[in-house]
Amino acid sequence: MLDLFRTRLMQGTPTSEFPDRDVSLPARFRGRPTLSRDDTGAAIGAPARDLPSGLVRADSRALPVLDLGACLFSPEEATAAPGCQVAFSQDYRMATGTRNDLITPTGQVELARALNQQMRRVFGRSLRLRSVAAGSCSGCEAELVALNNVVFDMARFGIQFVASPRHADGIVITGAVSRNMRAALECTYAAIADPRLVIAVGACAISGGPFTGSPEVLNGVPDSIPVDLWVPGCPPHPLTTLDGLLRLLGRL
Ligand code: SF4
Repeated sequence: MLDLFRTRLMQGTPTSEFPDRDVSLPARFRGRPTLSRDDTGAAIGAPARDLPSGLVRADSRALPVLDLGACLFSPEEATAAPGCQVAFSQDYRMATGTRNDLITPTGQVELARALNQQMRRVFGRSLRLRSVAAGSCSGCEAELVALNNVVFDMARFGIQFVASPRHADGIVITGAVSRNMRAALECTYAAIADPRLVIAVGACAISGGPFTGSPEVLNGVPDSIPVDLWVPGCPPHPLTTLDGLLRLLGRL
């Protein structure tokens, strides 16, 4: 018994100091991508090789912009194309309040803003979420599960996952939304009482991710379900999701 107590004391407190202190992530962590254009403002050219996602695209003036909602955070995406250079930063903060905020000429994004006062009064101290995997690879769910472990411990902020949409204040959607899952997703959304929150987690739910263009998917959450928080990643780091949720609730 004493050995058990000793071991427990030696383990200390494993819970992350986020958000009170800055949390350092491993050097291999690929966070918010950044884009540097060359000084000539040259139009985007073809990348040196095929990129696995639509992270870099051309804006209306044919200048390169980043779409964080399409980013798969793979090393191959940090590839120079004529007129621009992409790199990954260590910043895990990148959840936004609108889809358009994920499209950026530099990689800097307007982070999610707090809900209005009335919504914060309802959800600010206790938020129950139903998770729906609408055609995902399970990577995003694994990171959502990690939010409940002792390191991230989402429950310390009053946020928990629940089994039924009838007990939920909002819905967390992962996956590219396969045609077979559309009806189940829309029924789950309809079963949650108003006011409700919708959180799209991962490249698949935002843009279709690696499944973009497949005839079997809707390329992310359909317009019939209005999204309040967009969390990029493939999958998003638990801190990216937690940071977005706390910003939405006005806790950061
Ligand atoms: S965003 Fe990436 S990790 Fe998440 S479901 Fe899609 S492929 Fe899997």
